[in-house]
Amino acid sequence: MNIRVTLTEKSRAQELNMQNIPFGKHFSDHMLIAIYENGQWGTPEIKPFQPLSLSPANAAIHYGQSIFEGIKAYRHADGSSHIFRPYDNYRRFNASAARLQMPAVPEDIFIEGMRRLIDLDRNWIPGFADHSLYVRPFMFAMDDTIGVKPSESYAFMIILSPTGPYYAAPMKIYVEEYFVRAVPGGIGFAKAAGNYAAAMHATAEAKKKGYDQVLWMDAIEHKYVQECGTMNVFFIFEGEAVTPDLKEGTILAGVTRDSVIEVLQDMGLKVSERPISIDEIISSYQSGKLKEVFGTGTAATISLIRELGYKDIKMDFDIKQWEIAPRVKQLLSDIREGKAADTKKWLFKV
Ligand SMILES: *Cc1c(COP(=O)(O)O)cnc(C)c1O
Repeated sequence: MNIRVTLTEKSRAQELNMQNIPFGKHFSDHMLIAIYENGQWGTPEIKPFQPLSLSPANAAIHYGQSIFEGIKAYRHADGSSHIFRPYDNYRRFNASAARLQMPAVPEDIFIEGMRRLIDLDRNWIPGFADHSLYVRPFMFAMDDTIGVKPSESYAFMIILSPTGPYYAAPMKIYVEEYFVRAVPGGIGFAKAAGNYAAAMHATAEAKKKGYDQVLWMDAIEHKYVQECGTMNVFFIFEGEAVTPDLKEGTILAGVTRDSVIEVLQDMGLKVSERPISIDEIISSYQSGKLKEVFGTGTAATISLIRELGYKDIKMDFDIKQWEIAPRVKQLLSDIREGKAADTKKWLFKV
């Protein structure tokens, strides 16, 4: 594929201490941009990371046609770089695009563009344990006319951000009984910008109560749990792991979720994708059958949940006793960091 490349005059990689860097604050030397107009994609361009110039009438700002992905790349001990399951993110990206009436991004622009960008900025992949390069592909409307309609032009971009352990601390999660994130028929399954804007108020309210994030429930009965802000959720009972199913299209189909299901099955656990109600969670907590609760997502991999709050009920967990979540986390990290065999072919070599 033809990509126009303009190199930065001087790399900024040496200026940054890449150990324990905060999530999403630093960006690599280059970015990729491809423009869709007149019904087709133009030649992608890799150029120095820089601000964009947009019309104040930019349609994405006003009407929200904006989607993104989150992927990670790792440096292995032999110096090679690897992207974790990028094709799964590619498919999900275009599913989000279709739902928001945006054009599909061709595979070579998404995958080969990402590979070339990461290869060029490979000095930005931190080599430390639990560190990685966060890859953020995104697309937004580029028309500069006011009026509610699908834009006729779009920008697809990829930026890269080196990152250390994210949400490393075990979390306190509030089960939200009033506000909702997604409805059947809505855009819950899409990684669309508006979903996160819609979640912020409830999350801020939960923070006032001392929690880190909310666990959403279904919008119809306010009874079945769905997922957290940017994480899917797993419950480990005696002999069964449960995660909410994706049938209603209200839950983001996490790539980490899918990986964790496979790893849990390999460990010999029965994994059920099924509706799980807050009542079942409370009663199995009270009877001692609920052993572990954790979130899964690219940013954090596995986040242990040490407390679940619902109305005035508090469910505390002694995470030091947990066996499953730490093992899954270790197994996944070892595969991603090249310390365990990639038997499932999850890694894509840069
Ligand atoms: C990104 C995201 C996830 C996790 O998906 P991964 O592919 O595992 O990173 C879960 N829920 C929501 C709402 C998300 O945005």
